[in-house]
Amino acid sequence: MGARRIVIVGGVAGGMSAATRLRRLDEEASIVVLERSGHVSYANCGLPYFVGGVIEDEDDLLLQTPERLFDRFRLDVRVGTEVVAIGPADHSVTVRATGDGATWELPYDALVLSPGAAPVRPPLPGFDRVRVLRTVEDAEILADQARGKPLTAVVIGAGFVGLETAENLAQRGIETTVVEAADQVLTPLDPELAVLVAAELVAHGVAIETGVGVAEVTDAGVVLADGRAIPGDLVVAAIGVRPDARLAEMAGLALGPHGGIAVDDDGRTSAADVYAVGDAVEKADSVGGGSSLIALANIANRQGRRVADAICGRTVRPAPSQGTAIVKVFGVTAAMTGWNERRLRAAKRHYRVIHSHPMSHATYYPGAEPMSLKLLFDPEDGVILGAQAVGGSGVDKRIDVLATAMAAGLRAEALADLELAYAPPFSSAKDPVNMLGYMAENLMSGECDVVEAYELAGLMAQGWTLLDVRTQDEYLRGAIPGSVNAPLDTLREHLATLGRGPYVVYCEVGQRGHTATMLLHELGLPARNLDGGYRTWRAADAAAAGDPRRLHRPAVAA
Ligand SMILES: Cc1cc2nc3c(=O)[nH]c(=O)nc-3n(C[C@H](O)[C@H](O)[C@H](O)COP(=O)(O)OP(=O)(O)OC[C@H]3O[C@@H](n4cnc5c(N)ncnc54)[C@H](O)[C@@H]3O)c2cc1C
Repeated sequence: MGARRIVIVGGVAGGMSAATRLRRLDEEASIVVLERSGHVSYANCGLPYFVGGVIEDEDDLLLQTPERLFDRFRLDVRVGTEVVAIGPADHSVTVRATGDGATWELPYDALVLSPGAAPVRPPLPGFDRVRVLRTVEDAEILADQARGKPLTAVVIGAGFVGLETAENLAQRGIETTVVEAADQVLTPLDPELAVLVAAELVAHGVAIETGVGVAEVTDAGVVLADGRAIPGDLVVAAIGVRPDARLAEMAGLALGPHGGIAVDDDGRTSAADVYAVGDAVEKADSVGGGSSLIALANIANRQGRRVADAICGRTVRPAPSQGTAIVKVFGVTAAMTGWNERRLRAAKRHYRVIHSHPMSHATYYPGAEPMSLKLLFDPEDGVILGAQAVGGSGVDKRIDVLATAMAAGLRAEALADLELAYAPPFSSAKDPVNMLGYMAENLMSGECDVVEAYELAGLMAQGWTLLDVRTQDEYLRGAIPGSVNAPLDTLREHLATLGRGPYVVYCEVGQRGHTATMLLHELGLPARNLDGGYRTWRAADAAAAGDPRRLHRPAVAA
């Protein structure tokens, strides 16, 4: 038998990872990579930063060239070459040169599809005026327009790419509005964390319109569904992507329930010797089982390597996806892994929530920055279902530790036992992740129950007393309406006048509230602690009002 002929469609994240791994495993194989655009192995994740001028030199986005890939890996990389059909029956693909339109057939022994995703383009009047950001060519056009000093821009869509694009346009001095049909920015986050990101955008002069769609794109900008016109010399859409499963569908390959190419753990499609990876495929979901669509570079790269292993006869470990993602929005970082509360609720999963607001490192060492953390877990068995974080430095580390713990099957309470690196410039002796473990342990053991912000009004209506155990100074700076101030240090004295509860207790972030709740329990009084304290309540309140500015306005206690 001669050398194996492997054809790869798509020469970026998944496709190029597959190609280089294949070469490392098989020096003899003929490996052809077909890429429709003019570039391979480009850093699509860096495109928004090229638009903003943070990355100044376009060459920095081009991680490889066909020539370099030939020199090092003897890969036959052909740019400007589109695969227009695949023929699983006769093991060949039909290829078309994007330049002169010439077409030809290329046979394969194994075919890897990594065509990525296509941006969603709604059938809106005037949408042809809208720019998208998918390729280096898109970024060149957008960067040129941004350099041309438009006064205003509209970004449609407040997901990862939309917010990165908005930040970069705003940093070029362009008055930018983000329009998002959902009620919040960054829908992978729950509202009380997303509102922290929205507040950061607003603080940097980016206007946000949530809960309203775009009805029309005009020469002057966009018209919203409620009739308001938003000025935009430049209009960019980042309203999500759908798997590019066109070739697979045309060839009769099985698709999954969400329209992506269906693959098994090895990346095999329903056709013999045809594999698929990356944004185009449905991923096994680590939380819910079943499959879901997750368009992320880490997964595409991992899958590229794994499919190469499978083609070369190696055993591939199943690696379900949990959607670990991160984004920088001006001075804050938002990161998440697993499912959010909205999704767990919709799936009727049994879960509990913990909020905390730790500092990135010991506060006595300069430069500590606050963050907000949320952990979702099954209270019966402690299985970690998801985590979210928004804040300054250290957010990335905590989400990565939590994502690792989740992938390893660690239980929520076992986070308490993780031995994490500590010195004052980096963390605290009890790392924020350890603290989540302590809190989960308290909750699961029944030692201390918590109340979520959205449950508060109902309990107060039933006659529960809301006790603010912060200092009087803190209370006067802003407190939850209807609360009574009884500072922790004098709580024992206050109790004679307060009655026998039941109590919901809160402090700034939940820690003093926990101590107070335990004290009340010791005294035989029913009490529950407000999860995440005043800070989480504040965020939930601002999110419910759809007004991030509320985060910084004091609430009035009475
Ligand atoms: C602006 C932007 C920012 C992003 N930022 C992040 C980030 O910060 N973090 C993160 O995890 N992910 C990010 N992503 C997503 C990430 O880039 C993708 O998940 C990843 O690139 C998917 O890899 P892939 O191989 O499936 O597809 P791609 O990397 O998109 O590659 C697909 C390639 O296939 C080519 N192609 C398609 N059809 C054909 C055909 N018929 N013939 C020949 N060639 C074809 C396309 O031209 C394309 O170059 C970002 C994406 C964009 C667009």
